[in-house]
Amino acid sequence: MSESTTALVLFSGGQDSTVCLAWALDRFQRVETIGFDYSQRHSVELEVRPRIREKIVAIKPEWKSRLGQDHMVRLDALAAISETALTRDAAIEIADNGLPTTFVPGRNLIFLSFAGAVAYRRGASHLVAGMCETDYSGYPDCRNETVQTMARALRLGMDKEVLIETPLMRIDKAETFALAYKIGSDAFIRLVVEETHSCYLGDRSHRHDWGYGCGECPACQLRARGWEKWIATRQK
Ligand code: ZN
Repeated sequence: MSESTTALVLFSGGQDSTVCLAWALDRFQRVETIGFDYSQRHSVELEVRPRIREKIVAIKPEWKSRLGQDHMVRLDALAAISETALTRDAAIEIADNGLPTTFVPGRNLIFLSFAGAVAYRRGASHLVAGMCETDYSGYPDCRNETVQTMARALRLGMDKEVLIETPLMRIDKAETFALAYKIGSDAFIRLVVEETHSCYLGDRSHRHDWGYGCGECPACQLRARGWEKWIATRQK
């Protein structure tokens, strides 16, 4: 258990942020969540968020009293300044620069700024976020150096101790499944598979072993590969 009592988790309803939420619930006395609504082309992630919050507290008895408020922040301005397939009807593919067309430049910096302000207001000294530089899709704002430099900027800018915890930073998607299993065993794996959403196309009509999604987009492929690798490791 951490000495600090409150953590604020950047929680989108995806696989990574759901594992981060469980990770935080295991460590902090009080855990609040923050989500961002920026006119995503598909609001599926926003729809699964309340369901995950509702179901996750059944995994461990102590989690129920720890899970606190959810903060939903509307960031319409983000859609206005981004050229992305998440907010416009453009095809999702890998662009010439190696980044998916869903890329919103510096998006995580914007999220962390807002999360920092909410954490300040709520008396939370820790932000928990699912950035990962291992098998991430090439987003430079997921790098550890970016995130920890942002933490320093928040500490200086708000004159307050703010730590950013990124439990998935050094692990791949298979290890994320392994971490989920370690934290909450089969019950939590079931929740991750059934309720979390990663598919860029917002597809909830196709069910795979690893969960719902189109199976084709980069997010689905990453999740499928991670699942298969984890299952193979388990069977050894
Ligand atoms: Zn997909």
